[in-house]
Amino acid sequence: MVDAAPGPVEPHARRPQAQVPRGGRAPLGTLWGLLRPHRLALAVAVALALAGGAAALAQPLLVRELILDLEQSRSARTATTLLVVALVASAVLSGIQSYVLQRTGEAVVLGARTLLVRRLLRLPVAELDRRSSGDLISRVGADTMLVRTVVTSALVDLVSGVVITVGSLVAMATVDLMLLGVTAAAVTIGFSGAIFVLRRVQAASLSAQTAVGTMTAGVERALSGVRTIRAARAEQREARAVNVFARDAFRAGLRLARLQSVLGPFAAIAVQGAFLAVLGVGGARVAAGTISVADLVAFVLLLFLLVQPLAEGIAALSALQTGLGALARIQEILELPEENADDRVHRSAALGGAPVDVEFRDVAFAYPADDAVRPPVLRGVSFTVPAGLRTAVVGPSGAGKSTILALVERFYDADSGTVCVGGHDVRDLDRNELRGRMAYVEQDAPVLAGSLRENLLLGAPDAEDEQLYEALAQVNLSELVHRSPAGLGAQVGDEGILLSGGQRQRLAIARALLSRPALLLLDEPTASLDARNEEALARAVAAIGPDTTVLVIAHRLSTVVDADRIVVLDEGVAVAVGTHDELVRTSPLYRDLAARQLLV
Ligand code: ADP
Repeated sequence: MVDAAPGPVEPHARRPQAQVPRGGRAPLGTLWGLLRPHRLALAVAVALALAGGAAALAQPLLVRELILDLEQSRSARTATTLLVVALVASAVLSGIQSYVLQRTGEAVVLGARTLLVRRLLRLPVAELDRRSSGDLISRVGADTMLVRTVVTSALVDLVSGVVITVGSLVAMATVDLMLLGVTAAAVTIGFSGAIFVLRRVQAASLSAQTAVGTMTAGVERALSGVRTIRAARAEQREARAVNVFARDAFRAGLRLARLQSVLGPFAAIAVQGAFLAVLGVGGARVAAGTISVADLVAFVLLLFLLVQPLAEGIAALSALQTGLGALARIQEILELPEENADDRVHRSAALGGAPVDVEFRDVAFAYPADDAVRPPVLRGVSFTVPAGLRTAVVGPSGAGKSTILALVERFYDADSGTVCVGGHDVRDLDRNELRGRMAYVEQDAPVLAGSLRENLLLGAPDAEDEQLYEALAQVNLSELVHRSPAGLGAQVGDEGILLSGGQRQRLAIARALLSRPALLLLDEPTASLDARNEEALARAVAAIGPDTTVLVIAHRLSTVVDADRIVVLDEGVAVAVGTHDELVRTSPLYRDLAARQLLV
């Protein structure tokens, strides 16, 4: 029966939490790291911006020439021609610049995503345990998008804004110093206010992006457990829970929007104030005959020119701060050590020929946790898995069985004691080499979306179709190939929903066997299978040849009875080792488990 008020669905049992990045390197350093490969393109964009800016700057001065020419009845031909050239040049250059920038922006996003994905897939499993995948996904998707804005507009706008501003101010100085003074005063007042606000934008952006991360984590959690949620008619409750996160994101977005909209009035004060003051003071000076009409027109045009980069500069600073907030979240991931960062040696693995044995010597382990309490999961576990034979681990739920496999795979390292594979401490073996020699079949539906062939080739990319057919036959799945005219190309559907649990497990075993592993780690499904599937699974496991050592976490009696060795685990302790017949006589816990057909 489905619980009417289901708890969160495993394996996403924790509340989704996006973590606020800890302080580290300044985001600007990371930004430069991402921009560096594209510095040439950026330099071109800046050069184009400057050339475009120069062409734009020339226009008011040419208009002034034009008016003076007309006033003095000279030919205005040169001035007109130059004006047209400047107009067309500034337009064309800005078009080219825009493309160069967009392209660079996309390339920077690609670079950031590539780095992120590579790092994410190499993070220690313990690190992935404590983070929610939704939040990590949002860092790859949403945060990188904000960094693009920094490249496409903020940086170049900033550089060209500064240049055009300085250029306009210089050009203004040549026209009339008094008007320049008036302009500078108005602009300074507006800008000081804007800078005051801008300082808060980066922090607001970071919390907005973190809220988006938490919301994505909530959506991911809800979707991954959608069947349970539907079955329990808990859609509304789950939607409400996700909505709480969405509202957090909304509020954080609003905080950011408020800050950004305060910038508008400051910019308006600077701009309108400057215009009014220049027109007033300038008008008076024209009336007094101190400056000419041509001077005033040129000055007003220069002011027009100044206004745009000023407004853009403020927007660019705001976008830069927003981007830096997002970048802090990207940087946090990029700074995490990879799984093998703490490897003590990189001795090339000396694993002998197949099959290999496994030995646990007095192994103790607790999962890493943020708080100080780390309940022990394995306590002084010792047992051996002889090479070429089949060893089953049994025990009540939560006894630590899956943890044993995780330690052999080196997803985690033991706190004390040693795990040996092929006679070597796993910590002395190269992870890649170690994992290359063994195959791991997880408990839950380890089938990926894609075709049958793609699923099978995962562990052995070079296998021929012939071998794939053989592997399917070995696990009694040949019928799958005949089910669809596409044969091995048949899609197994998103997460393999077209296959039953037992079939998925067998497909995973076929995939594992194709890589001819020296050691097969198998976590049997806990769910009970129908008799046909159960028998097929048992036969598939029994058919594994002597070249492969099998360590299986067994949940059904059919797998256990003819295992060469059985390890009984209880609350993190290996309480008994033996064959089925021996254990039935000597171990009360085993007798009890066997009496209940073991499914725990
Ligand atoms: P079994 O496979 O025998 O059911 P496990 O090895 O999965 O047991 O789990 C043993 C204990 O370790 C359980 O109490 C479980 O809650 C805990 N545990 C398992 N995986 C993790 C993890 N990734 N982080 C923290 N605790 C875990």
